[in-house]
Amino acid sequence: MAKIIAVANQKGGVGKTTTAVNLSACLAYIGKKVLLVDIDPQGNATSGVGVEKGDVDECVYDILVEDVEAIDVIRSTSVERLDVLPSTIQLSGAEIELVPTISREVRLKRALSTVSDNYDYIFIDCPPSLGLLTINALTASDSVLIPVQCEYYALEGLSQLLNTVRLVQKHLNTNLEIEGVLLTMLDARTNLGIQVIEEVKKYFREKVFDTIIPRNVRLGEAPSHGQPIITYDAKSRGAEVYVDLAKEVVTSGERVR
Ligand code: ADP
Ligand code: MG
Repeated sequence: MAKIIAVANQKGGVGKTTTAVNLSACLAYIGKKVLLVDIDPQGNATSGVGVEKGDVDECVYDILVEDVEAIDVIRSTSVERLDVLPSTIQLSGAEIELVPTISREVRLKRALSTVSDNYDYIFIDCPPSLGLLTINALTASDSVLIPVQCEYYALEGLSQLLNTVRLVQKHLNTNLEIEGVLLTMLDARTNLGIQVIEEVKKYFREKVFDTIIPRNVRLGEAPSHGQPIITYDAKSRGAEVYVDLAKEVVTSGERVR
C-alpha cells in the first residue's frame, strides 16, 4: 500500500506544486513507484509533468463527482515510474457541486484506495484554499507536507491550516500526521531567510525538514517545458535538493516503521 502525502498550504505561490511535481519525480528517479494527484483546478501539476490540459477528457473531477474509476483516469508520464491523475479547470465546479452529496469528504480517499497497491507513494497537490478539495486530500492522506516560503510573514495563516488538520484528525482521519514543514525559495544572500528559518524551527522544531529548497532559476523554468527538474536539468542545484528531499522522505518513513 502506498504512503499518501498531501502537499498543502492555503497560501498561493509557496511552492506546493513545485514540491509535489519534483518530489514525486525524484522519488520515481530513485526507484519508487509514484502517483501524482492534481486536485488544483489550475492544473499546474498536470502540465508540470508534461500532460497537456487540453488533451485530458476525464480528470479528477469525474472521479469525485461522476464516480468514474481512478484507474481509468490515471496516465503515465515521460518520467519512468511516475503516473499522474490529472486535473482540469472543470474541477473548479467540484467544490460547490460536492456540497449536497453523500460522503463528500471521503470521495478521494475511496478512489485512491482502489489504486494504492500499485504505488509506493501518492502525492496530492492541493489548491490554495482550505475548502472541500483540500479536506478530501487531508482525509485521504497518511500525512501532510507543508511548504513554507522563506519570506516575511512566513508563519502567517499556518494556524488556520493546523486548525483544519486538527479538525480532520478529529472527525475524518484520526491517523493523519504532519510529514514535515519544508522551507522553500530561500534566498541565501539575505539575512531575512536565516531569520525565517530560525522562526519556523522554533515553532515546528523537529518537524522541519533538514533539506531546504533554495531559489533556483532552473526550478522556475522547468514547468514551462512540461518537465520536472530531474529530466529538465538533472545537474542543477534544484534537482540536487529535491533528490535530497526524496531521500529524507524515504528515510523518515523507514525510521517510523
Ligand atoms: P503553489 O503551488 O504553492 O502556488 P508554485 O509551486 O506554483 O506554488 O510556485 C510559485 C511560483 O514560484 C512558480 O512560478 C514556480 O515555478 C516558482 N518557484 C517555486 N519554487 C521555486 C524555487 N525553489 N526556485 C525558483 N522558483 C520557484
Ligand atoms: Mg500550485
